[in-house]
Amino acid sequence: MTSGQVVVVGAGLGGLRAAESLRGAGYDGHIVIVGDEPHRPYNRPPLSKEALAGGVSVEQLEFRRKASIDDVEWRLGSPVVSSDLTAQTVTLADGSVLPFDGLVVASGIRPRALPIPGPEKGRYFLRTAQDAAGVREYLVPGARVVIMGAGFIGCEVAATAVGLGATVHVVALDEEPMIRPLGRELGAGMRRRHEAKGVTFHLGHTISEFLGEDHVVGARLDDGTVLNADVVIEAVGSVANTEWLEGNGLDLSDGLLVDDGMRVIDAPCPMVAVGDLARHPNALFPGPARRIEHWNMPTETGKRAGATLGAILSGQEPATAPFTAMPSFWSDQYKHKVQSFGMPGIANRITLVDGDVDGPCIVEYLDDTGLVGVVGIDRTSELAPYRARLLERARG
Ligand SMILES: Cc1cc2nc3c(=O)[nH]c(=O)nc-3n(C[C@H](O)[C@H](O)[C@H](O)COP(=O)(O)OP(=O)(O)OC[C@H]3O[C@@H](n4cnc5c(N)ncnc54)[C@H](O)[C@@H]3O)c2cc1C
Repeated sequence: MTSGQVVVVGAGLGGLRAAESLRGAGYDGHIVIVGDEPHRPYNRPPLSKEALAGGVSVEQLEFRRKASIDDVEWRLGSPVVSSDLTAQTVTLADGSVLPFDGLVVASGIRPRALPIPGPEKGRYFLRTAQDAAGVREYLVPGARVVIMGAGFIGCEVAATAVGLGATVHVVALDEEPMIRPLGRELGAGMRRRHEAKGVTFHLGHTISEFLGEDHVVGARLDDGTVLNADVVIEAVGSVANTEWLEGNGLDLSDGLLVDDGMRVIDAPCPMVAVGDLARHPNALFPGPARRIEHWNMPTETGKRAGATLGAILSGQEPATAPFTAMPSFWSDQYKHKVQSFGMPGIANRITLVDGDVDGPCIVEYLDDTGLVGVVGIDRTSELAPYRARLLERARG
């Protein structure tokens, strides 16, 4: 029998899975989940895909929750604004102060905002259901859409907007779309798929100014090109939501550094971090601890973090086994299914092993230690052997 209170900051997938895992570890004290959005945890990937295309409500996107957390207290619609980790309290924007015995940091990331002059109206990021609803309003046939950033989110939005009859321009400094996770050849293959659908890329360029009085009507690129726009979506990277932890002596330079059990390094109290903001080791891919913004990681880190915190709060030693979760990512663009396992982005050699980068294909990503990642396009059901080879890395 335990007592006391655990506060989970962030009502997303990572916070949800950590709370469920904490219960699974036998913790029966009070759990409060604080979220700045007004919703219980919901699924974000559809926000750039089917939910953006229309017809999916945020209620339909809500995750199923285990009965074991039916008794948690939800504090939604008010963010945590500060914390005192020595006194073991967090303070919400509404002024309430919540004491805790254990803390789960699950506040995720937000899109990076670049300081570009011009009007604000008509410019969107895409992280929340509210963002998607705002962008959706503009996506009518003939709409002129400018997307800044050619990563996965930018490219998915491009595909969805084209599907709704919009004219789409993508502006990005990169040489090819999705070049970091996919590499140049496959990125070029994806670009050609988009171009075949009518998307225009402005690669090697950025936006220097947004045009318009009150509402954006266009974007001027760094080479002087002017693109007319009814709406702009900015998708140029992310920033971890850790400001509320400032003043506690933690290293907040890139999310939160944790150990294999997701315990926050140098924390003065029982404290774990999960999901997109946790910078964690992974024994499958030695090297520096990394943040991984893939949908399966909040679940993997949440499970581990709940078990760790449950053990600490019941006076036991948490498990020290290395963390070996397999990063996995998928993306839907037009009818194409992109699936990745491992960490293609750390490779120094890329080999097409089957098919053609302009058609269904499988690509291996290698470094000096061997296979570090695989990507399949429209061959997703054939990746199991590659995934198995990647898992063998845990055995050395
Ligand atoms: C548009 C989009 C498409 C995506 N598509 C894919 C995909 O196709 N495949 C894939 O693998 N992954 C995809 N992802 C990534 C995936 O959704 C994330 O990895 C996952 O949502 C991360 O979960 P999380 O719990 O760490 O963070 P989040 O889901 O972001 O949850 C964090 C929550 O904490 C809240 N919060 C922040 N600060 C505070 C505070 N101070 N106080 C209280 N609450 C706070 C946030 O508002 C948010 O509600 C996509 C993400 C987006 C945005």
